[in-house]
This record gives sequence, structure tokens and C-alpha cells, in this order.
Amino acid sequence: NAIELEDVVKEYLSHGEVVQAVKGVTLGIAEGEFFSLLGPSGCGKTTTMRMIAGFEPPSKGLVRLHGKDVTDVPPNKRDVNMVFQSYALFPHMSVWDNVAFGLKQRKTPQEEIKRRVGEMLEIVDLTGREKRRPREMSGGQQQRVALARALVNRPRALLLDEPLGALDLKLRQAMQIELKRIQREVGITFVYVTHDQNEALTMSDRIAVMNDGLVEQLAGPREIYERPATAFVAGFIGTSNLLAGTASGGELKIGGGRVLVPGQDGDVTVTVRPEKITIDTVEPGQGLSAVRGTVAEVVYLGTYNSYAVSLADGAEITVFQQNALDASATAERGDSVWLSWQAQHSY
Ligand code: ADP
Ligand code: MG
Repeated sequence: NAIELEDVVKEYLSHGEVVQAVKGVTLGIAEGEFFSLLGPSGCGKTTTMRMIAGFEPPSKGLVRLHGKDVTDVPPNKRDVNMVFQSYALFPHMSVWDNVAFGLKQRKTPQEEIKRRVGEMLEIVDLTGREKRRPREMSGGQQQRVALARALVNRPRALLLDEPLGALDLKLRQAMQIELKRIQREVGITFVYVTHDQNEALTMSDRIAVMNDGLVEQLAGPREIYERPATAFVAGFIGTSNLLAGTASGGELKIGGGRVLVPGQDGDVTVTVRPEKITIDTVEPGQGLSAVRGTVAEVVYLGTYNSYAVSLADGAEITVFQQNALDASATAERGDSVWLSWQAQHSY
């Protein structure tokens, strides 16, 4: 592993009271991995990152980088670099000088500086803009300068704390693809902090979903989406429907129908994704989870429709249905409908 946290805790003293920002995080990040820390504001992402970088000592626990315990090693002696949301570029320096700065400080030979800065600007697609100042560039370009400046030192790991937060949606999406490409090209471990689930799902090899100072799930994007480990993860990632009740005989009686929960008994909460549900006006066959309801709302969203369906007991279920070529809506507001899905799609 490139980066290891072992039961790391961070406590702050705030107005005379001890606040635990990070409550015991254990995780391993592989060499060359694109790894994301994902969670809502205040869950401890930045604090975790700052402990990896060495800006904050942990209150308890260990930080290892490339097999070495660095818990007490200062930031400048760690083989990692950090990129901030604010870019922190030198405004009076050209793009070239911003990127070359660290190498000059370390008295790198002129020829090598020239080669490495040139290479880096090519990777971030800024060749030809060497003489510009930061303020003459767009937000996305400034972010790429910041990235080049961090990468030119060839750290073994790069830490990025919400680096795209200041960009508008279109540019952010373009930069997500760019960042992933750059990471693949340089082959460096990236640790990426974001509160944006789409961003994490798009770019990451693996994601640690954090909530209230703890990691709730650590897995690949697909598994996090398809098999959320906790109700928090299910609610935070994508849209999901939660159905709760008392199960017996492997069934949950709900909304004038049944939800199949094989092997479960007693109080259960079941999650099902909107796109796994089929909406129909006739009762589906046996072997499926099936509930009845009334269409409360239909929203046309281009490639798919979103239905809000109210069940008899008051619960509301969201259903996404792909628009077929003939594009005829299968149900309208006020219709009585059946919703069904395969048992394997609820968990
Ligand atoms: P995130 O990056 O996920 O938004 P942070 O790691 O910044 O979360 O913060 C986690 C928690 O720790 C928050 O409740 C925050 O208020 C608290 N916290 C962070 N830094 C400090 C500090 N220097 N002093 C006191 N509390 C802090
Ligand atoms: Mg933060």
C-alpha cells in the first residue's frame, strides 16, 4: 500500500470542549490508485487529508506512507503533494515560473527544469501559454497550472481537496475526465476529496464514503452504488427508495403487495434504486417484489421519465423509466399502477 491509516483519530479543542473530527479511520490506498474520500460537509474529509499530508498530527493512530511510519514526520519530508481548491498560484508569476518554482528552489539544473516543466505543461495541455499570468486564464486553466506545479516535483502521491469546487458544472465535468487521464498518464497515487457523488463515481478506482468522522463503506464505485453497506450510503449516493416494515416468511407486506426479502425476518429496511423498478398497469407475475400505488407526479427528463408513486400506506417511491423509441409514457398522473422489481435488486 502507498498510504495506510491505522485507527486514526483527530480531536480538536473547541470552546473548551473536545470535538472528534475523525473518530477512528483505518484504510489502505494502493500505489497508483485513484482513491476518493466522499461525504457531506463536516464529515472529516479535509482533516483526514491533512493528516496524510502531515499538516495535522493525529490525536491517536498511525499514518504510513510507502511502508514507513510517518506519523511524526513533517509535511516537507513526506513524499506527497497537495492541491487546494483555491489553487494558491503566485499571481505575479507566469505559468512557466509558477510550475518551475519548486524545482528552482531545490536548485535543480536549468536543463532539467526546462525539460520537466515543458513535459508537465504538455500533460496538462497548456503548451503555448507559458507566458500568461494566472489572472489571464480561466478557472479550469488555473487549476491545471496548480496541478502541473504539484506534479512537476514527482511526488509519489498527490492529495487533492475539492480541487474542482470553484468551477461551474460543465467545466467541472470536463476537468473530471482530464484529471483521470492525467492520473493514468503519470501513474501517481491520487487521493481525492469531494462531497460530489457523481465526481467520485466517475473518477475513482475505489471510494471511502465518510459520515460523521467514520468510513461507512470502502469499495469500488459500482459496488457502492449497487450494494450500499448502510442506509446512509444508500441515501447519499444516487436516488434510492427506502421501504421499512416487519418481515415474515421472507416477505414484507407493504403497499397492498409484497417485497421479497429472502431469509429475513423481523424489522427490516429495504433499499431499491429507481431505475430497477418497472411500472405497469397490470399485476406482474409471481416471483417479483410488487407493490401498488397511484402516480402522483410524472417528470419528463429527456432520456428518462421520473415517476413519484404514492403507496396506500403513505410511502412514496421514485421510479426512473428509460424513454423507449416510441416514447409513449406508460403511466400518467392519477393512474393506479403496479411497481415491481427482482428480489436481487433490493437489499
Ligand atoms: P470536511 O472536509 O469533510 O467538510 P473537516 O475535516 O473540515 O470536514 O471537518 C470535520 C469536523 O471537524 C467539522 O465538524 C469541523 O468543524 C471540525 N474541525 C475541523 N478543523 C477544526 C479545527 N481546526 N478546530 C476545531 N474544529 C475543527
Ligand atoms: Mg473539507
